[in-house]
Amino acid sequence: MTVNPLPRRPPPASDELLSSWIGRLARANHCSVEELCGYLGLGQGRVPEHINDLGQVGWARLCSAVQLTRREIAAMTLPDTTHLGVQYVSSDDFQSCASCAGQTPGLILRHWRFAWSLRCENCGQALVAKHPGDGISDRLRVRATRGAATMKAAVQANDLQRIRRFSLTLSVLKVLGLAYAAPLTSRSQMERFTALGAVDVCDTRPLLGAAILLHGNDKALRELRRVFPQHRGLIDRVHRLSLELDGRLPRKPLHQCNPVNQPDKVMSRPSRKMVSSEALNAARQAVSELGSNADRQALLVRADAIWKRQSCVRR
Ligand SMILES: [Zn+2]
Repeated sequence: MTVNPLPRRPPPASDELLSSWIGRLARANHCSVEELCGYLGLGQGRVPEHINDLGQVGWARLCSAVQLTRREIAAMTLPDTTHLGVQYVSSDDFQSCASCAGQTPGLILRHWRFAWSLRCENCGQALVAKHPGDGISDRLRVRATRGAATMKAAVQANDLQRIRRFSLTLSVLKVLGLAYAAPLTSRSQMERFTALGAVDVCDTRPLLGAAILLHGNDKALRELRRVFPQHRGLIDRVHRLSLELDGRLPRKPLHQCNPVNQPDKVMSRPSRKMVSSEALNAARQAVSELGSNADRQALLVRADAIWKRQSCVRR
């Protein structure tokens, strides 16, 4: 069944998301999105965005109305990622380009929805998160940028082994309370950058990163063994490595590390989450400074020094 073409058809922008274009078509033709979806044969409910949302579409009607081919319409959708363990495509607008969205109201580009997109491919400006993070260090930004590139390459190469490793890493972050559901596309820039940074660490020094996270955290160790019984051997291996850190990382809890010549202050005890985050940051910085192929002992010594310095600077 074919229908008459829509009277007004603003051309889709390069890499525009299908739902974005349907919204702009509706405004151009002075009707609601719901009315337009009915005319296009898209039914009720959510405007299609993913390729599997178009399974029941009447293509002849849709192609006739918008004057595009089936291939061109399908290219405006997001891929189906349900078979992968890593959610790298967002189902909402967790970030956008202020410049492009300002020039074309309602515009949403496909790549803005991908976890690895940090810059707009249309204008080159940095994408803006819904909740921009304060205090994100330059090193974490570098780590996150590398992690984003790593993830993009793994997905494009369909490297299932690496993707599986990313998935496990993100699961560990969740168990440790450092990330929540879908951290790679989190609206919180800090959570997202932490997750992307973890992807980079797990790709370069997976065991060291996990060992530093687990150091002295018996509760997290028990939780990991409970959640991942099939990886008990690997968890025990990481645990042994974390035990080797004794004597290299500060034995004293960080909250006891007062500078000698300063009066005691009433300070809140750092949470385990904060300590783990600081340890991971120290590990990241050490790897960043010495390179991913550096000797393990040298990395541990350097991470130890960075951690001690940061804990005293913070106070
Ligand atoms: Zn842009």
